[in-house]
Amino acid sequence: MPEAKETVLEIDLGNLAHNYQYFRSKIDKNVRFLSVVKAHAYGSDSVAIARKLEELGTDYFAVAYVEEGIRLRENGITKPILVLHPQFTHFEEIIKHCLEPNLYSEKTLRAFIETAEKLQQQHYPVHIKLNTGLNRLGFDPPELPRVIELIQHTKTLKVASIFSHLAASEDWQERDFTVGQIDLFRKMSWQLIENLEAEPLLHICNTSGIINYPKAAFNMVRTGIGLYGFGNDKTVDPALKPVVTLKTIISQIRTIEKGATVGYNRVFTAQDTTKIATLPVGHADGINRIYGKQKTGVHINGQFAPIVGNVCMDIIMVNITGIDCEEGDEVIVFGGKYHPNDFAEAGGTISYELITGIQRRVTRKIVNG
Ligand SMILES: *Cc1c(COP(=O)(O)O)cnc(C)c1O
Repeated sequence: MPEAKETVLEIDLGNLAHNYQYFRSKIDKNVRFLSVVKAHAYGSDSVAIARKLEELGTDYFAVAYVEEGIRLRENGITKPILVLHPQFTHFEEIIKHCLEPNLYSEKTLRAFIETAEKLQQQHYPVHIKLNTGLNRLGFDPPELPRVIELIQHTKTLKVASIFSHLAASEDWQERDFTVGQIDLFRKMSWQLIENLEAEPLLHICNTSGIINYPKAAFNMVRTGIGLYGFGNDKTVDPALKPVVTLKTIISQIRTIEKGATVGYNRVFTAQDTTKIATLPVGHADGINRIYGKQKTGVHINGQFAPIVGNVCMDIIMVNITGIDCEEGDEVIVFGGKYHPNDFAEAGGTISYELITGIQRRVTRKIVNG
């Protein structure tokens, strides 16, 4: 393959290191650091990111699905990997690849014990998820006696950690609710620990949890979006460096006259003589239709060029009237000086969705490795 000359997603490992050190500095030395690398490390490249984080000293990883964990193991990642959302049909694979399941319901707990017995495991590390108000995954308070009973009656498991997830850690309006979640988590965890004679790690904070509720770090924190350069907070964002930059090039430039239209369904009409550039990136690459019709735009040679007309599958057209540029020039869709938050906000979404939505056909390029 020739060096990618079309659309590339640059992944800056130097920026990753910067963000890692930032969050490391926010927590106590003996608090462990779990790096969340689910969804291709938030749309980037989970292997490259995990290797770098291992080198930087992360203690733990988390992925969403078993396949994601297997991929890391097959690429030499050795630190423990928590699988946040495993299905009970995948438990043999989990054990075979030394992955650690989140057990979040009686059904998953029973099924895992059964699999661990079958594979003759002893003290296999598992993570018990508690529901403290997000109402997504996890055991509710009345279920705890049942959890205790099941775990007391088997030697196959070791509770490596007990955890929960905050519903609105970035939102100060929800402070009371969040503090309530943290209190309930503490109470439920103690009930388990007292009855299990175990010394599990406790963790509830995600990125915004670390920033807004530092006293709730317990024994470990789970950072995802922050590692990739987003603090969910106007005061924290400037201290972080977005890891990804989406770049493309100009394929073609044309000048159209007043009254001419651009693209499917003719939704853009030139009000005057207009210079249009065509770029090889579209909704199949993750630039959804919502960004079309001048909602936002790209940067070419430091100048803003709005996306005109509808976003096509593989192409967008931008208005470059007054911009000094030629075919083959570099285009920054987002990243670097042009914060991905601004791009996401223009489309009415958040950084999480924008960066995880960049499709796999866009070449990933590692820089500052
Ligand atoms: C995705 C996820 C995280 C990471 O959250 P960020 O807001 O990206 O830091 C932490 N914990 C759980 C359970 C998650 O699903």
